[in-house]
Amino acid sequence: MRIGIFGGTFDPIHLGHLRMAEEIRDSLSLDRVLFIPNQVSPFKTARSVSPAERRMEMVWQAVADNPAFVVSPVEVKRPGPSYMIDTVRELRRDYGDDELFLLIGSDAVRELPKWRDPEDLLAEVRVAVATRPGTMPADVLAALPDTWESRLTFIPMPGLDISGTDLRARVRAARSITYLVPRAVEAYIARHGLYSGEERGKEIL
Ligand code: ATP
Repeated sequence: MRIGIFGGTFDPIHLGHLRMAEEIRDSLSLDRVLFIPNQVSPFKTARSVSPAERRMEMVWQAVADNPAFVVSPVEVKRPGPSYMIDTVRELRRDYGDDELFLLIGSDAVRELPKWRDPEDLLAEVRVAVATRPGTMPADVLAALPDTWESRLTFIPMPGLDISGTDLRARVRAARSITYLVPRAVEAYIARHGLYSGEERGKEIL
């Protein structure tokens, strides 16, 4: 099988994430994409992030109607910072000889050299980079070691300028997020008062 691995904070998951996963699934004929919410991002320790169960639940709601999209609790179950190399080693136990593809946005891939043991990671997975209009693969490759090029595949996707940061700000300002996140995610955010300000104390739990 060909398995996609899509890690992120997903606070909240939005249509940019979902379209990116679908674009790569389709282009690379993946059988399954695992959405893996992190426990603690090694890069996002500065701001308080919603509890892992809340982020997991939103991803679950977002992918429930798609048999190819699956949520994996592998990182939320592991305490401490979520390093992708640890995750891939755990997944290898279940996915033996399957081919693993790491899904990543062209902004995030530039940070790859700062991840833990990136060379070991690249030996385990091929990297599928979703590029937005205007992003040139050559510019991305210039930021990475030369030897990595053969492990990377660039998949163009329509630009969907949506981010968790912007969505949280919209909710805080009591503005609409309709059509930026799935309906079920919008309802979940409203039901639990996420990002509204009142919830902020609870977010650091
Ligand atoms: P935040 O604004 O909270 O930093 P985010 O919405 O950018 O969050 P993450 O969970 O940090 O989301 O991102 C996980 C992955 O999804 C990264 O590889 C990132 O490049 C990719 N990604 C995020 N938003 C988009 C988007 N709108 N289009 C394509 N890829 C995206």
